[in-house]
Amino acid sequence: MHKRSLRRLAVPAMLAAIAVGLAAPAQAGGAGPGQGQGGKAAAEIVTGTKLEGRTAALTFDDGPNPYDTPRLLEVLKENQVKAVFCLWGDFVKQNPELVRQIVAGGHTLCNHTMNHDNLAAWTPEAIREDLEATSALLHEVAPNVPIPYFRAPYGAWGQSPQVAADLGMQPLGWGFTIEDWETQDPDVLAERLETRLRANPGAVALLHDGPAMDRSGTVEAVARVIPELKAEGWRFHQPDRRG
Ligand SMILES: [Zn+2]
Repeated sequence: MHKRSLRRLAVPAMLAAIAVGLAAPAQAGGAGPGQGQGGKAAAEIVTGTKLEGRTAALTFDDGPNPYDTPRLLEVLKENQVKAVFCLWGDFVKQNPELVRQIVAGGHTLCNHTMNHDNLAAWTPEAIREDLEATSALLHEVAPNVPIPYFRAPYGAWGQSPQVAADLGMQPLGWGFTIEDWETQDPDVLAERLETRLRANPGAVALLHDGPAMDRSGTVEAVARVIPELKAEGWRFHQPDRRG
């Protein structure tokens, strides 16, 4: 099971508090400025894959995390699954090599802001400044890497969908989460992941490999559930990028 290092206990409680802000449900259909403009608004918040049936898109937020991102990358590689990593600038600065490993693994990057601030009340100008700085940091670490997605911390989108779209990034929502900020019990998380994948075919799944704290239960859930579903014909794709 999970008897990994106790040094995790030294991680400031502040980080745990920051990470748990996903109480809001997914905003299916989007709530950005593009909503209602008909069909293909680039600011639309995507919550699914392009395909129907036994598919899902796996997305991992708040890393890179030196404790659990490496193991997650191994698990994904073993299962030949590509995922999206929504990276937090502060941790990109601390773990640049992990960003390069994510890219080398064939995964896709998503801008998740520099400091994981709540953008709900920010002006478009302030949002743009943060998103540009975060993307510039990612490009410093991994030159020329595509950053096709943006995800607002806490799902607090505010005016960020249009700003992200203007910068060429698709706002990336989710169809379901496994609420892995509540617990890291691998049994609970594996059950949630399997049940919610089956209940939401074609959805974007939101999980957490960061911030820098214990996410071993999340990784273990992925390691248990993905091989089983793949054996049943499930496929893991990129989120839809309409527009
Ligand atoms: Zn986050």
